[in-house]
Amino acid sequence: MNVSGEGQGPEMTERHISGRSLRIGFDLDGVVYDFRKALSEYLVGAGHPQCTVEAARPDWDFFHGWGLSLDEYMDLYRAGVDAGYVLRVGDPLPGVVDAMRRLTDAGHTIHIVTDRSVGSEPGISAQHTAAWLAEHRFVFNSLTFSSDKTVVPTDYFIDDRYENYLARKKAGLGCHLLTRTWNVELGDRSTMRVKSVDEFVQTVLAAGTTLQGLESSRAS
Ligand SMILES: [Mg+2]
Repeated sequence: MNVSGEGQGPEMTERHISGRSLRIGFDLDGVVYDFRKALSEYLVGAGHPQCTVEAARPDWDFFHGWGLSLDEYMDLYRAGVDAGYVLRVGDPLPGVVDAMRRLTDAGHTIHIVTDRSVGSEPGISAQHTAAWLAEHRFVFNSLTFSSDKTVVPTDYFIDDRYENYLARKKAGLGCHLLTRTWNVELGDRSTMRVKSVDEFVQTVLAAGTTLQGLESSRAS
């Protein structure tokens, strides 16, 4: 599924032609949305008191800290989505709405790519995602649901899953790995990491300014 508002209006077209506009990609879970916290809140409220954020394991398979198998975890995740809680409730992680706004204010476009296809009703995770983004007034240009993060070509991308970072790099696409407890021990010194979304924004804005400077000097 792809919802795109690209190329609408003369202003956007002009920015694309000028070449100064960069395409910036964002993953959602673990970058923009505190998925573990939302699932924990739902499960504790649904009679699973052991499923606290504190008890979650710090690695990718955090649900093992709650004594859940992968199948049990997937069943409870689905129940949380069906209940309209997981993917729908919870504040954005601090600063992320402002981060996207700063990038669009600088003339760049925002492309969200998320691996969300859970729920008993077809399309329910996409509906929750769109409603949540609208509720919190996110500014973005396209929203794509895909487990393959290489499907949307962008100049920059931020993701918290090391495998996604590797896949994008292998495809020749930009990516920064947002350091989280579940990826901190992966990769090596060449891995392009950022400690925060704010650091990612600073990196993109600096690159945009450099590009603009290069164009100005070429034009003169
Ligand atoms: Mg993620």
